[in-house]
Amino acid sequence: MRGPLAGLLVPFAVSDQVVRHCERRLPFESGGFLFGDVLADEGAPQGMVTHFLPLETAMFSEHRFTPRAESVLHAVLLGQRHGKSLLASLHSHPSASPTPSPKDLESPCGFDSLHHVIVSFATPRPTWAAYRYVRSDGALALPVQSFIQL
Ligand SMILES: [Zn+2]
Repeated sequence: MRGPLAGLLVPFAVSDQVVRHCERRLPFESGGFLFGDVLADEGAPQGMVTHFLPLETAMFSEHRFTPRAESVLHAVLLGQRHGKSLLASLHSHPSASPTPSPKDLESPCGFDSLHHVIVSFATPRPTWAAYRYVRSDGALALPVQSFIQL
């Protein structure tokens, strides 16, 4: 598996799709996966996002996004079939800042190379942030903020 990406580049068509998807599901959290291509010209590789695949919600909550397992599997297989890399998980924070909650850090998905994007709707204009969750000795992973360009 490749090393961690320095950050993510998100074109407007994708960020617009994400915002519209998440806005429609307010006040509940929602989310999905960001797929794309790895750009590795010089320096650390970056992820060029090409697709947002929404995931179905298993349990409606204003404070946690829980996708349906079969929806996750379907998205991963669809990405593979189209030769795209899974770059990041994404979920919304309807009323909180785009900072990982303790719950987010309890279940970091295990992949050090995966980014975790949070889109906050606490402000009139959505705020985006990206992190890598690094394993720590404690119960919670450590969030390391990464670069995201919209
Ligand atoms: Zn969260």
